[in-house]
Amino acid sequence: MRAAPSPFPQPIFVTRPTLPAKERFIAQLDEIWESRILSNQGPKHDQLEALIGRTLKHPQVKLFCNGTLALTLTLQAMGIKGEVLTTPFTFPATPHAIQLAGARPVFCDIDARTLCIDPAKIEAMIGPDTEAILGVHVYGIPCDVEAIELIAKKHGLKVIYDAAHAFMTEVGGRPISSFGDATMFSFHATKLFHTVEGGCVAYRDSALGPTLSLLRNFGILNEDTVLLAGTNAKLNELQCAMGIEMLGILDEERRARARLKELYSEALSELPGLECLLPPAEVSDSLQYMAVRVNEADFGMSRDDLYAALKDWNIFSRRYFHPLCSDFEFYRNLRRSDLSEARRAATEVLCLPLYGELPVDAAERIVHILAHLHRSATASPLRASN
Ligand SMILES: *Cc1c(COP(=O)(O)O)cnc(C)c1O
Repeated sequence: MRAAPSPFPQPIFVTRPTLPAKERFIAQLDEIWESRILSNQGPKHDQLEALIGRTLKHPQVKLFCNGTLALTLTLQAMGIKGEVLTTPFTFPATPHAIQLAGARPVFCDIDARTLCIDPAKIEAMIGPDTEAILGVHVYGIPCDVEAIELIAKKHGLKVIYDAAHAFMTEVGGRPISSFGDATMFSFHATKLFHTVEGGCVAYRDSALGPTLSLLRNFGILNEDTVLLAGTNAKLNELQCAMGIEMLGILDEERRARARLKELYSEALSELPGLECLLPPAEVSDSLQYMAVRVNEADFGMSRDDLYAALKDWNIFSRRYFHPLCSDFEFYRNLRRSDLSEARRAATEVLCLPLYGELPVDAAERIVHILAHLHRSATASPLRASN
């Protein structure tokens, strides 16, 4: 019998923002103090935009002050005002962006394997007002991009992706943003790459570029002309400086996360009732989350009980995504398909702590605690032992 592990002395959260060396950021600030350019597409902005284009292997990108507005303004720039088929198994920002753009979300169920919108459920939901499909690459596991493309072509729909979890994801060597008409990335502090707050959109049709630039800057074309009722969604120079420095430590952060994810997935494969949600072999992992699916019968505990129990050990996991967006009171009367797979995922998925600075022995301890909870939950004499 192995000794019971002990709780962490300090809380361990699901993530901890990555930061570059403070001296490097201060050197960037010195340049900003010198230039007195703080916002409005300054030199740091243009430098970061070019660097992001190279990192994502997608030359056409626009930076925004956050991912939500990047997505909202992309839908506006495309003129999408009708129904947008999307997934309820996502962060609230996804359907909110549709709503904010003046269009209407319609919820489609997810594929049990990818946890992304299920192409097999899409076609039946297409109506006379349907204009677009908005898929989310959940945990960096890509949607079935080929099937979605076929459906979109057949019905003349636009395809937009929320790739907030899929920074640098590639499918068979192709960058994730090469699928669909436009792809949004979030640069929020909790994301793998961040600018404190921020985001971008990678788009296919070059005609979209000038409209996106106008929409993020009040629709101002020049001193004499305002072309559109745009908003203020600019990324400022301090945030761009953060992004430039973050890109410099991205490889190191990714290496550390890859090591931890390998440790988790190897150790957890021996534990009944916990299935690691990993991208398929041809997909490069974005390393954004360490998501597991809890099978109550095999693990001995429900996801919610495990989530609560982990807190006693000072481990703060997250139930991404719970609750389902389709359950929000104000979205109750939107059109929807049967959502049973999404509902099941929302009660079974848990994200474990994953960030570069998480020590290897802390991840090992988390695994031991999970094994201990499984043993305690299944050791009851009331359970059949065989
Ligand atoms: C983080 C996130 C967003 C929102 O991005 P912000 O930059 O915080 O606005 C949207 N969708 C998903 C799936 C996310 O995880």
